[in-house]
Amino acid sequence: MRIVKLALTVFLAGGEVTIIFLLIDVESNVERYSNAVMIIFKRSKDLRSHINKARHQGLSTGFVPTMGALHKGHLSLIAKSKKDADITICSIFVNAVQFNNKEDFDKYPSSIENDILLLEESGCDILFIPTANEVYPDAASKNKHYELGHLEKILEGEFRPGHFQGVCLVVERLLNIVEPDYLFLGQKDYQQCLVIKSLVKQMDKKVKVFVCPILREKNGLAMSSRNLRLNEEQKQIAAALYKTLMCIKENLGIRNFPQLKTEAINKLEKKGFKVDYLELAKSKNLTIIDDIDKPKGVIILTAAFLNNVRLIDNILIKD
Ligand code: AMP
Repeated sequence: MRIVKLALTVFLAGGEVTIIFLLIDVESNVERYSNAVMIIFKRSKDLRSHINKARHQGLSTGFVPTMGALHKGHLSLIAKSKKDADITICSIFVNAVQFNNKEDFDKYPSSIENDILLLEESGCDILFIPTANEVYPDAASKNKHYELGHLEKILEGEFRPGHFQGVCLVVERLLNIVEPDYLFLGQKDYQQCLVIKSLVKQMDKKVKVFVCPILREKNGLAMSSRNLRLNEEQKQIAAALYKTLMCIKENLGIRNFPQLKTEAINKLEKKGFKVDYLELAKSKNLTIIDDIDKPKGVIILTAAFLNNVRLIDNILIKD
């Protein structure tokens, strides 16, 4: 573990080292994949040439993009990628252009050393930690507009103007750099999954997108990097968001949704939440619906602030 810390110090000090071998007992060898070695890149050209070599060896690649402050939810995507792909690549990049709220960006948690240890322990093969200049080398790379239709006008799109444009910018750049076979995303950001699927179609990429289940704390709270900004008491209160969604799910088709929604929002506000939205939608395309007789193929989604921390959650009701 001492070697891990030492290598990191060089990296974080901005040294010219672009590839760092984290050695745990065994000798590293870039040409051969071993669970005991994770390679960190900060330059896209180095990452690309490394991945190209692996691809020529016939190895498949799985990609997990993140903004760091990793938790078990992120690691479940790494685990899924390890199962499906020969090589797992994770990126950590806090993408300023997708934050519509400066305070949210400024306070976004960061724990890079711990993230590296978690990824190394989980058997991630490659970590990409680019700088903003690496992701957006010129003004043109930030000057694109994506046609997302109603997806960017509703729910997150309505309350976070410009957010999904920023998401598309970074995901397009990362997909062009990594060119993965598989892309692993979390259902927690359900609308983002649909946006990225639409982007992948527009880009005409061959990448296969997997949407992985939401990992939760024991009390039901969806794991999130932003939970680090809540204290223990607030985390207990925050679990009410999931419990509310569960309660609505159980009553859908028995009582009408508008009534359930009003009651739920009142209860949440009494607990100190400020609710941005709580909606029922078709899971296929997120068309908002007022109510449903037979709850299937729908999703209940919510976003609410607790102590200035914005939390999102959803429950999918499949066929
Ligand atoms: P983020 O670092 O928040 O951008 O998240 C990176 C990826 O992890 C996204 O695809 C998220 O949807 C996914 N993710 C975040 N939280 C969870 C969770 N609790 N369970 C599963 N996946 C998650």
